[in-house]
Amino acid sequence: MSLRTDAVNHVSYGNISSPDIKGAKITGVFGENVFTLKTAREYLSDEAYKSLTASVRGGKKIERAVASQIASGMRAWAESKGVTHYTHWFQPLTGTTAEKHDSFFTLKSDGTAIEEFEGAALIQQEPDASSFPNGGLRATFEARGYSAWDPSSPPFIIEIGNGKTLCIPTIFIAYTGESLDYKAPLMKAVESLNKAAVTVCNYFDKNVTKVTPTLGWEQEYFVIDEALVNARPDLVQCGRTVFGFTPAKGQQLEDHYFGSIPERVYAFMRDFENESYKLGIPLRTRHNEVAPAQFECAPIFEEVNIAVDHNILLMDVMSRVAKRHRLVVLLHEKPFAGINGSGKHNNWSLATDTGINLLAPGKTPKTNLMFLTFFVNTIKAVHDYADILRASIASASNDFRLGANEAPPAIISVFIGDYLTKVLNDVESRVNSKFDEQDEAILKLDLHRSIPELMIDNTDRNRTSPFAFTGNKFEFRAVGSTANCALPMTILNTIVADTLNKFSEEVEALIAKGDKKEIAIMQVIQKYIVTSKKILFEGDGYSEAWHKEAEKRGLPNLKTTPVALDAMVTEKAKKVFLENGIYTHAEIEARHEIELEKYIKKVQIEARVMGDLATNHIIPAAIKYQNELLKNVSLLREAALPEKLYKGQLTLLKDVSTHIQQVYENVHAMVEERKVANNLTDTREKAIAYEAKVKTQYFDKIRYHVDKLEQLVDDELWTLPKYRELLFLR
Ligand code: ADP
Ligand code: MG
Repeated sequence: MSLRTDAVNHVSYGNISSPDIKGAKITGVFGENVFTLKTAREYLSDEAYKSLTASVRGGKKIERAVASQIASGMRAWAESKGVTHYTHWFQPLTGTTAEKHDSFFTLKSDGTAIEEFEGAALIQQEPDASSFPNGGLRATFEARGYSAWDPSSPPFIIEIGNGKTLCIPTIFIAYTGESLDYKAPLMKAVESLNKAAVTVCNYFDKNVTKVTPTLGWEQEYFVIDEALVNARPDLVQCGRTVFGFTPAKGQQLEDHYFGSIPERVYAFMRDFENESYKLGIPLRTRHNEVAPAQFECAPIFEEVNIAVDHNILLMDVMSRVAKRHRLVVLLHEKPFAGINGSGKHNNWSLATDTGINLLAPGKTPKTNLMFLTFFVNTIKAVHDYADILRASIASASNDFRLGANEAPPAIISVFIGDYLTKVLNDVESRVNSKFDEQDEAILKLDLHRSIPELMIDNTDRNRTSPFAFTGNKFEFRAVGSTANCALPMTILNTIVADTLNKFSEEVEALIAKGDKKEIAIMQVIQKYIVTSKKILFEGDGYSEAWHKEAEKRGLPNLKTTPVALDAMVTEKAKKVFLENGIYTHAEIEARHEIELEKYIKKVQIEARVMGDLATNHIIPAAIKYQNELLKNVSLLREAALPEKLYKGQLTLLKDVSTHIQQVYENVHAMVEERKVANNLTDTREKAIAYEAKVKTQYFDKIRYHVDKLEQLVDDELWTLPKYRELLFLR
């Protein structure tokens, strides 16, 4: 029996029931495994609790002695839940999470066994970090990296089977202080944005003392039966299929989108949702997506740092829970050719400590001017730094999706809807028309009456835009489904912080010259509208016309990762990162190197998997069929049948032989190109060679011939599960 038939026979059609939520209410379990401030209150002394709250809310430093008290409180809570181990949980630049478990259990010097968790162990650890990517920042022999506690993200308990581990969210830094993870720069960007935004807010409202970016992500994913996945080495090793003929029925009927959720997947969803609730991940939405076997979930938005942790945690939880259901979750941006891929929309806004969403139009002219200020500054930021924003979402897997006519293009543009387009045009022309100080007309733009109602109707129509205003937030839609949101969120918050800083400088300069505050603000807003206009686009982002138009406008359109990443290390980028305290030059150069290396490795692995599959699965199956045809033809000849009666077989034989030969030749040529690429010493050149010479030149070509063979060869002989099986059997 072939791997494939065996797999098909082992598809687990039955449901594994999901455990029921206690008391049937989500609130009953929500945050049960999280050391929230509420829980902390029960376990900590007044002093320790106050110190922790001050740190969570205001970023105040926690003294060592107090940290020890907090650590014992945490241990007491964790032990009450059956926890035996703890770990610092961090987000190294591999893109996943890392943990190294230590037990509370230890021996005293006289051999007495005790359980303890000291302040020092809570605050800082030194995992052997030599094999995490560091882009040359930390000499490998030194191997020193520190994980340091981030009190702003609450500790949580991960349950795996009966094992329970207390996870402490941490940042990861080198011995020399450079950050080696995704979280530390994000926290710096959040702080930089806070400062810049509070200054601007105070023009309108003196009560604001803190501004926090908010993030609500939407996670798309595929769910496939485990037995079938295991029979596809490409899915196992690359998370995507490198071969596979698109089945007769794909997504053309559009019958999957928002359809009823298949029962087995539903049981899985309830199970991972339940686990997520316990971890305090506020999941809210679940539905089918466009492609068969594709789904989406989304939580209620949170502060960006927490939302990022929750997303990366959720991806882990989903993958583990799926196993219990004999399913596999594919988070890859493009697991299947010919049908839609997966993204992760990042809904982003800014919230004040006075409870205002700065990107929600207000009810009075004054709050609307505040809205307009943040709205226009965001557009200006995206305009000025579109290339860096593009670089922040660049990855080998996202390259398959961006610009593939189902996802936003690699061209960054901003969609704002008809109404706000009109508002911006109004502001532009009114401020232009001989504005004098007495003229209050601009302040009477009447935004307050019309915006809120119209907004809902007008903003979310365009699904083809990579960066769209959706009523009370911007939605960055080009983020890939496997991505850690921290990177795009770091960049977005940094560029907005930078723009706001420049904005207040310009406003101050005008005020110093004697302009009234509101007038000064309007002047700068007007200027920003004019200078960033070319980033606004309301049309179809998937269309060829837009690509031409964007080129005319001078908007960058970098389709591949190795070149898109250049934007990370331009003088402009280095300046904005340094000035806002996000990355030093050394840090950003290291990151650039790491991203290039990741790209190279991903393409390298895919190329190898392609070669292996072609050699060990495709060609042998095709040869068997070729032999059958040969036998058949020679028997027919022996029987002296006229050739016109087996012309079909002869054509088949010719076609099969041609495709076998093509697969063989191209796989070998690809291996040669890999060798050439591997000899390049410059990382960027190597990445470009892998992109242009290995991937672009051979992947589609090899796939074309393999997929042709899949259509020709006897189904019984084909060893890899086919798309129709992967996508529809469950
Ligand atoms: P959809 O985009 O599917 O129409 P919604 O617009 O209701 O759905 O929300 C999508 C996501 O946007 C949700 O995750 C939601 O929490 C998030 N969101 C809503 N308001 C904000 C906000 N102020 N800041 C960040 N994210 C938000
Ligand atoms: Mg959305």
